[in-house]
Amino acid sequence: MRTSKLEDLNLPLFPITQVGSFPKPDYVKSAVGRLNLESRRATEEFVRFQEEIGIDVLVDGEFYRGDMATDYARALDLPLADWTRSYDNRFWKKGIVDRPLERASEIQTEQFRYAQSLTKRPIKAMLTGPTTLADWNFDKYYKDREKLVFAWAEIVREEAEGLEKAGARIIQIDEPAIGERISEVHDGLFQEGLRRVTEGLKAYTITHVCYGDFSLFYESLKDLPIDQIDIELSNNLDLGLKKSKMLQLIKEDPLTNYRDVAVGIIDVRPPYRVESLDIIIRRIENAIEIFGQNIWVKPDCGFRTTKDIEKASEKLIVLTRGVSRAREKVLDR
Ligand SMILES: [Zn+2]
Repeated sequence: MRTSKLEDLNLPLFPITQVGSFPKPDYVKSAVGRLNLESRRATEEFVRFQEEIGIDVLVDGEFYRGDMATDYARALDLPLADWTRSYDNRFWKKGIVDRPLERASEIQTEQFRYAQSLTKRPIKAMLTGPTTLADWNFDKYYKDREKLVFAWAEIVREEAEGLEKAGARIIQIDEPAIGERISEVHDGLFQEGLRRVTEGLKAYTITHVCYGDFSLFYESLKDLPIDQIDIELSNNLDLGLKKSKMLQLIKEDPLTNYRDVAVGIIDVRPPYRVESLDIIIRRIENAIEIFGQNIWVKPDCGFRTTKDIEKASEKLIVLTRGVSRAREKVLDR
């Protein structure tokens, strides 16, 4: 592993993790960012499931989460606008920034603390990044893109420090808006926002890049101020090195030369077919061919794209079986 931050966790070869969300069971009736009886029960069941099937770095499944931007707006007591349609055709309510941003209470710490209390394995704590928060809420106060991003960065930074104090060793800062803000990646505002969140943290930090054509900003991924970049790649891994331009680009100068990489091995888009073990093994082998052995593996994205708990579970199971085979093969050599 590139960073020594996690050395004492003794993670195995190809650590298995997830991006974050899992379909909510029927009994979870409401989710507005806070834990309740139902989301506690769902979190506990999901933590047990991940332990049983052999996930190494667990997530809490986000059963409490309404939306990754609205929950922040609520926690900051911002007024909410009407429904907005998101990039993946879901609806959420944007907050309206009408005053200096200030955190009224902790936003994610209680959720982390609860999930971590259920297991000895590390739980990955989740935050939404400053660029995404700046994009997914309206601004009537700052009226200046840089000031707005930095104000959100301050809020996320306070959260990250709170999570560290609560014992979080691994913190993921999601920036799905990166794909729509490529100019800010090129001029560095995106990185500066992220740097203000991560600089000096003891926790191992991750950013998940969601459904973007990251060949457009591949160079910039190499020096993002985080420990791990988490990418979607399963479809390209099916194409293989000969056919995928993306894989050829990566192979020339693998991201693993610069930081840790978590590779998407499971497709989470409709029609939601569960992969065969052979497909999983082939994807892992293709990923090793490109990145070398120093990779984490995980689904492409969170499972919020489906309500089908059974299929999502099957997909995770086949992933862990594929990784077991890959580990055996490496040890046999
Ligand atoms: Zn994603």
